[in-house]
Amino acid sequence: MKELLQVKNLSVEFQSDAGKIRAIDDVSFNVKPGETVCIVGESGSGKSVTSLSVMRLLEYENGSIAGGEVLFENEDLVTKSQEEMRKIRGNDISIIFQEPMTALNPVFTIGRQLIEGIQQHQDVSKKEAWDRACELLRLVGLNDVPVRMKQYPHELSGGMRQRVMIAIALAGNPKLLIADEPTTALDVTIETQILNLLNELKEKINMSIILITHDMGVAAEVADKIVVMYAGKIVEQGTVYQIFDEPTHPYTKGLLQSIPSDTDKKDRLYSIKGTIPSLNDLPQGCRFHPRCEFATDKCLQSEPPLLQENDREVACWNFKEVLKEKVKL
Ligand code: ATP
Ligand code: MG
Repeated sequence: MKELLQVKNLSVEFQSDAGKIRAIDDVSFNVKPGETVCIVGESGSGKSVTSLSVMRLLEYENGSIAGGEVLFENEDLVTKSQEEMRKIRGNDISIIFQEPMTALNPVFTIGRQLIEGIQQHQDVSKKEAWDRACELLRLVGLNDVPVRMKQYPHELSGGMRQRVMIAIALAGNPKLLIADEPTTALDVTIETQILNLLNELKEKINMSIILITHDMGVAAEVADKIVVMYAGKIVEQGTVYQIFDEPTHPYTKGLLQSIPSDTDKKDRLYSIKGTIPSLNDLPQGCRFHPRCEFATDKCLQSEPPLLQENDREVACWNFKEVLKEKVKL
């Protein structure tokens, strides 16, 4: 199947007081129509920067694309003007963020915000927009739709607000929805409901999804493919089965061991020792080596390239050793 999105060798830089920071470095991944790709990694690994660069929203944040391509239906978004991007955002590609309360306007009703969203994308009457708004709210699983339309954001629960945000994101019939930690602010039961909703939507409207999360448990619920990022680089990518059954990067293994067990969510979690390095003080060799139990002299000296290994990719000199040691989940 042909790809909907092809991110090729993408690098992003920020100007900071300490000089130039390369927040993501040579990142490549693809998304097919109807596919859900999860980008996972700890805080600061470059997940949001990756999604903001696909949307070309970096320019609003002192960042710039230092190299690479973002091909959406074979057209490079990197070379588009912001004017052209405004037409693509919300129509072809939509984005939702973690905290729906800050994205919704507290002084307008849900209905008004949805209708405005629809009329931004489509030349329809108020009545048609109202009907479409109700249809979208039903699609995202809200009940009592006429009542909801007249309510204000604070009158809804966090889960309902996130459903409204998804409805607004769907207003322009996007082919790709980017969801950046969409369930992090929600409790576990509501999180499951929102993830189920994303799965249902994918089936119903054949939309592609890029879901960003630090939680491998979330990725397990929705992902077809998983991209694992560490300190601005992709360290491993493969299908959800490959990543869960046979992780080949020590960092992926660590993330898998950090998933809380279903039986006791409060159990003290395993966490990978150490912390993610600062981008202006990266270790020599492999970026992960100071935290890695598999590290050898080679890892201290030379950065492993992303190797293609049976239609999956891994950047680890010792992946064969890692493979041999099964993860205990
Ligand atoms: P989190 O899970 O906390 O959301 P993330 O993986 O989304 O983390 P990013 O927001 O993509 O992380 O940031 C990656 C790195 O890029 C940050 O650690 C920071 O060093 C750098 N960065 C991001 N935004 C900026 C900015 N506006 N100015 C300077 N540096 C930035
Ligand atoms: Mg982020």
